[in-house]
Amino acid sequence: MIPSKSPPPSAHQTKQLSRAQRRRIVAQTRRAEQVIGRKFRNAMRRFFRVQAKRVTTAWMESGGYLSSFAEGEFKDPASQLVGVSEDTLAVAASRPYVLEMTVTALNAAGQLVGAAGITGTDPMVLYLTDQSAQRVVKINNATRRGVQRTITRGQAAGYSPYEIAYGSTATRKVGYRPLKGMVEELYRGRPECIARTELAYSNNGAALHRYKEVGMGTVEVSDGPGCALTHHVSGLKPGESSPEDINGRVISIKEANAWQVAHPNCRRVFLPMALSPSRRTK
Ligand SMILES: [Zn+2]
Repeated sequence: MIPSKSPPPSAHQTKQLSRAQRRRIVAQTRRAEQVIGRKFRNAMRRFFRVQAKRVTTAWMESGGYLSSFAEGEFKDPASQLVGVSEDTLAVAASRPYVLEMTVTALNAAGQLVGAAGITGTDPMVLYLTDQSAQRVVKINNATRRGVQRTITRGQAAGYSPYEIAYGSTATRKVGYRPLKGMVEELYRGRPECIARTELAYSNNGAALHRYKEVGMGTVEVSDGPGCALTHHVSGLKPGESSPEDINGRVISIKEANAWQVAHPNCRRVFLPMALSPSRRTK
C-alpha cells in the first residue's frame, strides 16, 4: 500500500523545502526529543541506581566466591553479577520512552509527507522498538566491563569485598571507584547520553520509514557542525565545521538508514525532499 503522491526524487534534485520549513521540522523534532528525553534520562538514572544496589548486594552475598581467580581458574564475576535478567530490566526501563518517541515521530513524519496515522500496536512500531531493545541491552556490556575491572583492581590491591562494593577511606585516598559508584555512573552524563542517542535512533528510524512509505528515495540531512556521515570529525574546536560535514547534503534513504546517527549524542535529523500537498503552502 504505497500512495503515489510524490514521485521519487532523484539524487541531484534541488532542495524543495524552504529554509523556514526545514528549521520548523528540526525544531519540532528537537522539542519532542527533549521532552521525552528528560523523562527517559530520569528513568535511566533510577535504573543505574537500583542496578548498583542489585550488583553490590549480590557481590556481598557471594562472600568472595565471585573473585576473578580461584584455585588457579579464571572466573567471570561480571557476567554473574550483571546477568541476562539485567538486559530484560534495561529494555523495560527504556521501552516506554522509545515507544512514545517512535509513535510521535511516525505521526509527525507521516503528517509532513501525507501518510496515514499510526497507533502503538502497528507492526512497524513493534519492529522499531525491538531494534531499540537490541541496542539498549548493549549498555550492560559496558557495565560488565566496568564491574570486571573494578573487582580485578580491588582484589589486586588487597581490598575486602566490602571495600570493593562500597569503598573506604583507604580506597577514596587512592581514587579507587567501588562497584556502587561505578555502576551508578560509569561515566559522567551516561543517562543523558543513552536517552539522547536512543531517541535520535527512534525518531530517525521512524521518519525514514514514513518517507520511504510514500515513495521517497532520498532525504536531506540536518546535523551539527563537524558531523560527517559516519563519524564526528576529530580535532575540531566546538562548533567548527569540516569539509566532510553532512549537514545540508542529500543522501539515499538506504544510506540514511545505515547511519541514523553518527556517534553517541548525535543531533542528526532527516528532512523529507517534499511535503504533502496540504502542507506545502503552510
Ligand atoms: Zn551528528
